[in-house]
Amino acid sequence: MSGQELCPLCGEGHVTASVQMLEYEYKGQKTQLPSHYRQCDVCTSDFAGMAEYKPWA
Ligand SMILES: [Zn+2]
Repeated sequence: MSGQELCPLCGEGHVTASVQMLEYEYKGQKTQLPSHYRQCDVCTSDFAGMAEYKPWA
């Protein structure tokens, strides 16, 4: 099995990538944007937005 990434923090757990839809309101209109995050299954550190963080406004 490959494709699982070792956690850079604890070095023991594996990091699982997930996508969560987050709702934002922009100019009075609600919109949903995918938020990518990765979470370690051992230390449960999450790496929210590490790769695809988009700062706006
Ligand atoms: Zn970890």
